[in-house]
Amino acid sequence: MAAPAIDGWFTVDNDIVHLIGTRCADCRTVYFPPLTGFCRNPHCSGEDLAPDRLSRRGTVWSYTNACYPPPAPFVAAEPYTPVTLAAVELAEEGIVVLGQVKDLTVDDLHVGMELELTAGPLADGPLVWMWGRP
Ligand SMILES: [Zn+2]
Repeated sequence: MAAPAIDGWFTVDNDIVHLIGTRCADCRTVYFPPLTGFCRNPHCSGEDLAPDRLSRRGTVWSYTNACYPPPAPFVAAEPYTPVTLAAVELAEEGIVVLGQVKDLTVDDLHVGMELELTAGPLADGPLVWMWGRP
């Protein structure tokens, strides 16, 4: 399997992909990407942030397609193939996580539809989390 594009932000166990966030032990606030140090909730003085696997499903909050390649250090395929991006509200945590959408176009998506976490390779090889059909 390809190496993850970012260490510590997601894990793949037996083809099951999980995002890894952190959860404050005091106020239970969830953060993604994972944080270290102290809780960012202004009403909480917690400093015990523990890694936690986040919901694997959520609903589409917004989406778009990227018709132009992002700037470096992103390595675009040659020729560039437009990608679909979705901001997905996680089922339990309620936070919104952006990701590339696998095997779906903007014509297949609508706000509120359920997507499930998966993974796929970037053009230059590393693995990233993606959103896909449940
Ligand atoms: Zn807290």
